[in-house]
Amino acid sequence: MTMVAVVGRPNVGKSTLFNRICRRRHALVDDLPGVTRDRITAQVSYEGKTFTLVDTGGFVSGDPERIAGETREQVLLALEEADAILFVSDAKTGVHPEDVTMADLLRRTEKPVFYVVNKVDGPEQEALAAEFYALGVDRVYAVSAAHGRGIHDLLEDLTAAM
Ligand code: GDP
Ligand code: MG
Repeated sequence: MTMVAVVGRPNVGKSTLFNRICRRRHALVDDLPGVTRDRITAQVSYEGKTFTLVDTGGFVSGDPERIAGETREQVLLALEEADAILFVSDAKTGVHPEDVTMADLLRRTEKPVFYVVNKVDGPEQEALAAEFYALGVDRVYAVSAAHGRGIHDLLEDLTAAM
């Protein structure tokens, strides 16, 4: 079974993207600190392809150092276990130093990695997404997980890579 992992810093919109792709109207998980550390999975079918989508996330502490460590662990785990990775960043906060660290890790894999810049709710935020090309990636997917913008293109390319 093909496994697709959603990774990225807290609050970038991983769970919202997960729910959007699963077409779930309501958040499946509350990412309140300490509520869940478990990874949430769902079966997704799109244009004849079926895959298991994994939402990572749920952090125990609010300590930035620990969060950075846990986020990195999740990226490393995804690199080991997933067949494809959706790496999510936040257009509103811009390129975060932790995004750079994680992009450096993700660059080393042969597995397909999709650099998703979330919270691009309208055309006026496209320029914010373009800043993420500074991560040295070939393609950035500007999306709005909340509103559905850009999700179709992302899923087209994701399923084409399977
Ligand atoms: P996670 O911690 O990465 O799983 O992030 P969440 O999915 O829990 O979202 C964190 C916050 O970002 C919530 O307040 C969401 O409502 C908000 N958010 C998620 N996606 C979008 C989006 O596309 N646009 C905007 N404006 N906000 C979003
Ligand atoms: Mg979450």
